[in-house]
Amino acid sequence: MINKTTIVSTLGPASASRDVISQLIAAGVSTFRLNFSHGTFDDHRAILRHINEIRGTLPYTISVMGDLCGPKIRTGLIETGTVLAENSTVSITVGDAIGNGEAFSTGFADLITEVQVGERILIDDGQLVFSVVEKKADRLICKVVVGGALSSHKGMNLPDTQLSVPAITEKDWRCVDWAIANELDYLSLSFVQRAEEIISLKDYIKDKDSKIQVIAKIEKPLAVDNIESIIHAADAIMIARGDLGVEMDLAEVPLVQKKITALCRRFAKPVIVATQVLQSMIENASPTRAEATDISNAVMEFADAVMLSGETAIGKHPAAAVKTLAHICQTTEAYIDRSNEPRPRMNIAADLRGTEAVARSVAHMLDEIKAAFVVVWAEDKGLGRLLSKARIDIPILLLCPDEKAAQQLSLCYGVISRHQPEMSSYEQWVDVVEKIVKENNWASEGEKLLLIPPLSVLSKNTAGAIIMHTIA
Ligand code: PEP
Repeated sequence: MINKTTIVSTLGPASASRDVISQLIAAGVSTFRLNFSHGTFDDHRAILRHINEIRGTLPYTISVMGDLCGPKIRTGLIETGTVLAENSTVSITVGDAIGNGEAFSTGFADLITEVQVGERILIDDGQLVFSVVEKKADRLICKVVVGGALSSHKGMNLPDTQLSVPAITEKDWRCVDWAIANELDYLSLSFVQRAEEIISLKDYIKDKDSKIQVIAKIEKPLAVDNIESIIHAADAIMIARGDLGVEMDLAEVPLVQKKITALCRRFAKPVIVATQVLQSMIENASPTRAEATDISNAVMEFADAVMLSGETAIGKHPAAAVKTLAHICQTTEAYIDRSNEPRPRMNIAADLRGTEAVARSVAHMLDEIKAAFVVVWAEDKGLGRLLSKARIDIPILLLCPDEKAAQQLSLCYGVISRHQPEMSSYEQWVDVVEKIVKENNWASEGEKLLLIPPLSVLSKNTAGAIIMHTIA
């Protein structure tokens, strides 16, 4: 069975070998995430070498995303066994002093200027909660609202603070240069607050003549407020539910997810639902019922992709987690395909409307006829993205003359993409299509394909065509 909801898998110590990466692809992964918050460039380079070797053996393309840490704030070193009691007082300084039950430090230089009295500081995914009661020249004095164990290098979230620090740090810029030099397909930007941050990263990438696309990670309340402009500016969106659930009321996260998946569909942008998708499978061989329900809901909401983090990076069962995820997605997709409910209309930019008419016509044709595949010559990414968002019941085989575009489209729902050099005649194009689908057992003699061939192989002045073809 072909995966339609695509799977993003984070690679790490549990999955850095060529063998495990091959298993993850066989189980259904089409995009890998290298998380720059962990590991060295040498580690990432070794993983990328494996991926590139495997790429050459696959009948379809896969993509690689580099995840930029952004201004993630962390605690410094803390004495082992430190526990903060509720209602006690703790000071936070800037620097590298070793922390204890009275005070600890952080490397975030602007902490004292940026955070105001009355604002909250959350530590370790919100396990500990402080309220700032006083600002001194060299420290913040906080009341411990929710206490617990405090340890080194834990994430610190400042949900009430409007940060003026740049979304892209010095370290991030080094990672951006590395990603460009190593020809990654996507860069995801953490803690985005405004569209301008995406635009400045895209401008830098363009100046370097790179085609890397930018994914906005939505994990700050301000990003939720600015969501429409961020969706327009970014090439894709990641709903980063981990930090989002710390930065805002946890009960809001499912609603934000619904809003963002619906907007991404309207504006034809790929959207990834991320974090704690199969959290229990970091340890266990099978998921919880709640995890299965969460995944199914993401598919119902028309997410393009679902992402695994620790499950594949450090988990005990990386390939089983991917197989489980693929199975749950496929079961819900089959239910949607059977249910015949009208699919919501897209509301997309005017310059894509001609393309949208083609995408919608394909969907209508498929209400009347049965076909194995829609095969599209995807010279630009617009038609591929729109067909993907039309949520047709059959897979879309995208043949792209641009190799990078082929790789990037592998993130989109329902898409199998391949790099394919230009062809000179319609006959040659059809021969290639038949060979690909037959060789890979994707379709066989007598089955129908809907073809959208390159206009250059059709008669002069043809502005668009959908051809019904029976495999010989
Ligand atoms: C998240 O917070 O959900 C997330 C994806 O971010 P990261 O894993 O990079 O911390």
